[in-house]
Amino acid sequence: MDYKIPLFDLNFDEKEERAALVAIQSKWISTGPKTIAFEKKFAEMLHADYAIALTNCTVALHLAFVLADVGSEDEVICPSLTFVATINAIRYVNAIPVFADVISYDNLTIDPEDIRRKISAKTKAIIVMHYGGFACNMDKIMQIAKDYNLKVIEDACHGPLSDYKGRKLGTIGDIGCFSFFSNKNISTGEGGMLITNNEEYATRAKLLRSHGMTSMSYERSKGHSTSYDVLELGYNYRMDDIRSAIGLAQLEKLETDLIKRAEIRKMYVELLKDISGIIVPFADYSEFASNYIFPIVLKDSNSEKRDWLRNELANAGIQTSVHYPAVHHFSFYRDYYTELPVTDYLTNNLITLPMYAKLTDEEIYFITEKLNSILNG
Ligand SMILES: *Cc1c(COP(=O)(O)O)cnc(C)c1O
Repeated sequence: MDYKIPLFDLNFDEKEERAALVAIQSKWISTGPKTIAFEKKFAEMLHADYAIALTNCTVALHLAFVLADVGSEDEVICPSLTFVATINAIRYVNAIPVFADVISYDNLTIDPEDIRRKISAKTKAIIVMHYGGFACNMDKIMQIAKDYNLKVIEDACHGPLSDYKGRKLGTIGDIGCFSFFSNKNISTGEGGMLITNNEEYATRAKLLRSHGMTSMSYERSKGHSTSYDVLELGYNYRMDDIRSAIGLAQLEKLETDLIKRAEIRKMYVELLKDISGIIVPFADYSEFASNYIFPIVLKDSNSEKRDWLRNELANAGIQTSVHYPAVHHFSFYRDYYTELPVTDYLTNNLITLPMYAKLTDEEIYFITEKLNSILNG
């Protein structure tokens, strides 16, 4: 179906086309100077000491658990209201996901009180996910991590440039992971970034992304070394220069894009305030946020009503989504099932409305009026 208003629209123009072309014409298309520049710029923008570009965020999450020394039988406390990759990465290192609930219908981030309740002698790490680019309660979470000597990994896929008390999301825990999948705030097709302030982690992440080898072909081609050793079992998780060039073009636009998204969010919140039956999560949130998505929650509802509403919106040409089907209900995760009442309500009653910088005022009026007339008409 061709939607009149899609859920997301790529913020690409001649700049990305040109950047990709220049990278291709340079004839160095695998990891090289563009990737180094992309990492440098990303680290600068987020005030992180190190940034390592990778194939995607899923592998960034995998490496994060390897670096944090999370392994077999270790428990990792995690949200269920996230994309499944957050939790799959826990299983890549044979660790055990221990699901914690989110705070409320208003705050869809992991609940620090529930994290505390789920700590056991086996707990090794906490992974948080900054839903929509809105920060988890990192003060409380870092305090818990300190009290129990746990590592904290931030799945910051939704939150590039989001602020948290003077810092950027992804730089508060031990490691932050970002995605540049097509529909994220920064798009390179596929792509990811691991950031950290820990020098040992950064050095090891570079080894692990390239087969455990002590140098990459780009460095050898520059005469920095002629041979290499293999220090440990690594992977091929490298980012290439064509995508890094596109990523650099995207970083140039990021702040403007996010400011536009913040305006769109403000308008949505204003217009939805008077529509009965809808909760706008994070409505009173005051810090700068990336607004990766715009979720609403239906009051006194159920999944049938939600799906009916989504269908009616689709008939009006408005594409919506659900972020997310809760991971603890997937067949593959049945052994780790636990009751999460807030997550359960949300996963059945959330709707993600269109959100992207090019969304016009007329389109926002159209979406909110349709919502109102379908729900209360
Ligand atoms: C997109 C996303 C991922 C996966 O990122 P990829 O780059 O597609 O591997 C992981 N976690 C969250 C929260 C995401 O939104």
